[in-house]
Amino acid sequence: MGAAIITLLHSATRELASSSPSPRLDAEILLANVLEMSRTQLHAHPQRRLEGDKLRHFAALVVARRKGRPVAYLTGARDFWSMTFKVTAATLIPRPETELLVEEALRRIPANAHWYIADLGTGSGAVALVLAKERPNCTLTATDISRRALEVARDNARTMELKNVEFQLGSWFTPLAGRRFAMIVTNPPYVPDADPHLQTGDVRFEPRQALSGGPDGLAAIRRIILRAPVHLEPGGWFLTEHGYDQDTRVRALLSAGGFSDIRTSRDLAGHGRVTMGCFGR
Ligand code: GLN
Repeated sequence: MGAAIITLLHSATRELASSSPSPRLDAEILLANVLEMSRTQLHAHPQRRLEGDKLRHFAALVVARRKGRPVAYLTGARDFWSMTFKVTAATLIPRPETELLVEEALRRIPANAHWYIADLGTGSGAVALVLAKERPNCTLTATDISRRALEVARDNARTMELKNVEFQLGSWFTPLAGRRFAMIVTNPPYVPDADPHLQTGDVRFEPRQALSGGPDGLAAIRRIILRAPVHLEPGGWFLTEHGYDQDTRVRALLSAGGFSDIRTSRDLAGHGRVTMGCFGR
């Protein structure tokens, strides 16, 4: 008995069609997860049959996804920058647009640099750990106010065998008193509290603390930019991700804060998404 992979994918895709924007992909990722296979392997064995526990496990995952739970929370993993990150409901799910923050940071860090770099509000550690991997001579300090998120980031560093990262519990610069960095990066919460986006799709299940940025979305960014100069070495870089319509205001905050070389980089959808500036050069 049991059911073939191809049949299961068809029925799960149909079941998810009304609740997910990507039903087929979701079904494939969930089934691959149950079978501990890659999606490519799934496609190579369409007639392979599932039974018993595995069949029940898959059915339960499809039901949970149908109720809205994000695929990444169901599998406990999300790929970012060709690395696989453990994620839990305590962390934001890494997003493709955040790769732009990583790209812009890497563009400014020489390959052999021995810089101290801070990542504020690291979540699963995606940004800090990619920078640590791509710039092995740099030392990353990743902070988060959530103890549970920091545990996930630590787990990821351990799995990836990255030794050049340290973790600090606390809000923004609070755990970094008296320390200066050559670069500070952050993907803080920046969605306005009343934005209906917070009530839709996967976002509903993510930590509100990692998303909500106060009435205009800029509360965290404003606080961070105010304190950043105290924690930057002369000529140090600050880079922040922000909302699709916040670039003008973020550039104004940096300008008012005394930063130079201020510019915004656009994401693949054409929205200004990452703004950066240099301090004291
Ligand atoms: N880009 C995310 C979203 O729109 C928000 C991420 C954040 O607040 N840092 O869901």
